[in-house]
Amino acid sequence: MLNVKEKKIAIVGTSPIMLIFAKVLSKKNSVTIFEKKKIGGAWIYDKVMNLNTNLFTNVIVPTNKITEKKTIKLNNFLKSFNVKVKSNKKSYRSVSPFRPRPIYQYDFSSFYPEILKEKKINIKKINIKYVNERKQYVLINKKLKFDMIFIPLYNSLRFIQYLNKKIFIPFKKIISKHIIFVTKKPIIKDLYYCEQGHEFFDRMQIKKNKKLYIFTARIAKKFKSQNKLFFIKNFSFLDSNEVYYSKINSYINYYRNKKQIENLKSINSKKIKIVNTAQLFISISTYFLKD
Ligand SMILES: Cc1cc2nc3c(=O)[nH]c(=O)nc-3n(C[C@H](O)[C@H](O)[C@H](O)COP(=O)(O)OP(=O)(O)OC[C@H]3O[C@@H](n4cnc5c(N)ncnc54)[C@H](O)[C@@H]3O)c2cc1C
Repeated sequence: MLNVKEKKIAIVGTSPIMLIFAKVLSKKNSVTIFEKKKIGGAWIYDKVMNLNTNLFTNVIVPTNKITEKKTIKLNNFLKSFNVKVKSNKKSYRSVSPFRPRPIYQYDFSSFYPEILKEKKINIKKINIKYVNERKQYVLINKKLKFDMIFIPLYNSLRFIQYLNKKIFIPFKKIISKHIIFVTKKPIIKDLYYCEQGHEFFDRMQIKKNKKLYIFTARIAKKFKSQNKLFFIKNFSFLDSNEVYYSKINSYINYYRNKKQIENLKSINSKKIKIVNTAQLFISISTYFLKD
């Protein structure tokens, strides 16, 4: 997949793994990224009270013993892309029975500018609606010609024209809501990350940045219609006098289930590459870390 040179390559979206593909492929090819919204996908970073932080709960964690062995390699790989890595001694509680040790915390704030300053990578704010594989090239939106295109799993394309057939790749648009609080106290002592730890939230994360604590959480389905004042008032761990900043952000995910992902992956051809983006640890291990 990565062994190509002197090609004109299109990449859909800007989640970290797609940006890593862009950077690596740009060494020997010309690369254009198509991103219709903000840079980062589900890993968006933004300035909050002058702190550059992830807006959603994001962790990179191995899911079994085999992948856990790759953690040090993965950390070194990410460091080479300007990701800051530090070990985290605070509590990590996922719903998975596997308990990885140790847990690391990753800071992508310098990763994005590092990739985006790359002169050999073009970024175009264009929504890709059509991908049509022809004999000699791939035609994007009926007019842009590329030699190859790399497509992540959670993209908004509804079909791809391939081998003279229209392949439907349906998805479900899911809008998730995420709250962010900045406080002077950690809110929940000794917690780094937790799934299903509170009825309001199904993922919670607390990161320290300078002297402040940034709490991010994905709001549980039942509470999605509530506004931030509801959480400030009712989240029992929170001292409302300590909240310096609060906001609810939304994210549009073009979700595909297992069957839809298999259908999408079956498209893989010489010119159309489907990248497995389901989990960042697995994506990096699969494509970049040799055994
Ligand atoms: C809120 C959230 C948090 C997550 N947290 C984690 C985590 O902590 N750890 C983990 O391993 N996994 C996490 N995941 C799983 C996540 O799906 C992957 O880590 C990864 O980001 C998926 O990459 P992706 O490129 O497929 O999709 P996304 O990250 O959703 O990025 C897709 C990007 O492509 C753009 N795009 C889509 N279609 C088009 C188009 N047709 N034309 C132009 N641009 C387009 C979108 O605007 C978006 O920026 C999370 C998922 C979500 C939704």
